[in-house]
Amino acid sequence: MASEIFWVGGLPFECSRCSACCRHEPGLVLLSREDLRRLLSHLGLDFKTFYAKYCRLTPYGGGIAISLRETKEYDCIFWKDGCSVYHARPVQCRTYPFWPGVVDSRTDWVREGRRCPGIGRGRIRPRAEIEEALWEYRRNSPVLLAAGADPEFPDEDSILGR
Ligand code: SF4
Ligand code: SF4
Repeated sequence: MASEIFWVGGLPFECSRCSACCRHEPGLVLLSREDLRRLLSHLGLDFKTFYAKYCRLTPYGGGIAISLRETKEYDCIFWKDGCSVYHARPVQCRTYPFWPGVVDSRTDWVREGRRCPGIGRGRIRPRAEIEEALWEYRRNSPVLLAAGADPEFPDEDSILGR
């Protein structure tokens, strides 16, 4: 992070529910261990069923991470006229736009504002809220498959930390 925090006085953000961050463009929604646990519990599914139906793999950080699938129109698999897992949505979704790389500098923030119409409008989010989101984001790094794991049937105990 840049040494000088430019958002000491907070940042304006109000989601306009345009859905641009959930659909129409290719993207990754990387899942942490906690994300997976929460989604399994919310949907009442076992890991194998959830993994086969909703997940895909992607290179990440020198390893292989688990992302949500997309439809062929590049909508998130959970987009159904809104987020169908809203109360269990991944940390990546719930902390946006207060991500490292977006709030590192004013330039990053302004650049992200070209993608997200909620940035720069509405209520001022206080510093404490931004710090909380950053902490939540960092604490929930994407879970990686163990080296040599079978990508079709990865070991769910190691993924879920059991
Ligand atoms: S792109 Fe921004 S304004 Fe649009 S739904 Fe996502 S967070 Fe909300
Ligand atoms: S899980 Fe929900 S909030 Fe996250 S990208 Fe998918 S539809 Fe959007």
